Amino acid sequence: VVTCDNCHQRKATDKWVGEGGVLELVHGLAQDWCEFCVVTRQLEYARRYAARVPILEQRLGELEAPDVPGLFSS
Ligand SMILES: [Zn+2]
Repeated sequence: VVTCDNCHQRKATDKWVGEGGVLELVHGLAQDWCEFCVVTRQLEYARRYAARVPILEQRLGELEAPDVPGLFSS
C-alpha cells in the first residue's frame, strides 16, 4: 500500500502533478497523494484564482474607459 507523500497518513489514491499538470508528470515530479490532500490543494488554488477576479475586473474596467490618460497626453 502506497501512503500519501503529503500527509503520510492516508492511502495514496491519486497522482499529484502540480497545477501545471502533464508537464510536471513528464519531468517525473509526480507524487502519490491521497484524494483528501489533492482536493485540499486544488481548493487552495481555486480560492487564490477566485480572489483575483475583482482585481482583474477593476483593471479591465480601467482599460476599457475611454478617458484613460495616454502616454503623450498633457
Ligand atoms: Zn494525504
